Amino acid sequence: MKVAKFGGSSVADGTQIKKIGNIIKEDTERKFIVVSAPGKRHEDDVKVTDLLLSLGESFIRQDEYQSFYEQVMERFKEIIDSLSLSEKVFEDIKRSIDDVLYGSLDHDMKIEALKAMGEDSCAKIVGQYLVSIGLKSQYINPKDAGIIVSPEPGNAQILPESYEKIYRLREREGILVIPGFFGYSEHGDLVTFSRGGSDITGSIIAAGVKAKLYENFTDVDSVYTVNPNIVKSPKEIKTLTYKEMRELSYAGFSVFHDEALIPAFKENIPVCIKNTNNPTAPGTMIVSEKEPTK
Ligand code: ASP
Repeated sequence: MKVAKFGGSSVADGTQIKKIGNIIKEDTERKFIVVSAPGKRHEDDVKVTDLLLSLGESFIRQDEYQSFYEQVMERFKEIIDSLSLSEKVFEDIKRSIDDVLYGSLDHDMKIEALKAMGEDSCAKIVGQYLVSIGLKSQYINPKDAGIIVSPEPGNAQILPESYEKIYRLREREGILVIPGFFGYSEHGDLVTFSRGGSDITGSIIAAGVKAKLYENFTDVDSVYTVNPNIVKSPKEIKTLTYKEMRELSYAGFSVFHDEALIPAFKENIPVCIKNTNNPTAPGTMIVSEKEPTK
């Protein structure tokens, strides 16, 4: 069984989500799917998570929040329409966001819950889309998946007792679509990981279900020896060790969250960085040991 995590650019619009459908169809071992919130569609675009944050902050300040609210709804409506999903999917998402926004949570918890709505809504959409293309699939909430975390807003840490429950997800039928970026405290409060934390959820699920591979789908073919935005045709790196990858992450390298390697590393699960836009490219493998090369 494999865990496949799709980042923000891979779920940015309906066209990208259709690519995910093809990727999942191609390999029946891809049973656990973790998704980010819709990211930027072009350079000047705004990530849904940032829109949700602005929405929450302006609502709490009793400022003009309506335009953020509309932008969030438009993003989801557009995706749902382009995937030809039913109006019910949109209504469910809108209801969940309204419940958090107008509900009685205190300010910090409201921001936490709103921030998570990007991933949560996206997982519902992807789950329904997979059903619409003939796959057996369901959305799983992180509480139901067993992701129990410390109660530190914006910096949750996984609690060890989570893993036993996550392992039992293996028994569930079909493809499970799990939102990244958040878990629940022992008191039942929603708490988010640090920003970019959907990678962490993917790694936790991979460790918990003892996956044979954790595939992290993003928008580059591989990790390169130099920044591909600065240098043309850079050299690809085929294999990295966990240790090398962590050092790169600490140095500000942004392909993979620095905390995300730990759960996979502890269970010795190989990680593969792959491209949603070019899924046949082999990607970069991150493993515990590698043969030295010339
Ligand atoms: N959506 C969250 C963020 O923008 C988490 C993620 O994308 O991994 O930070």
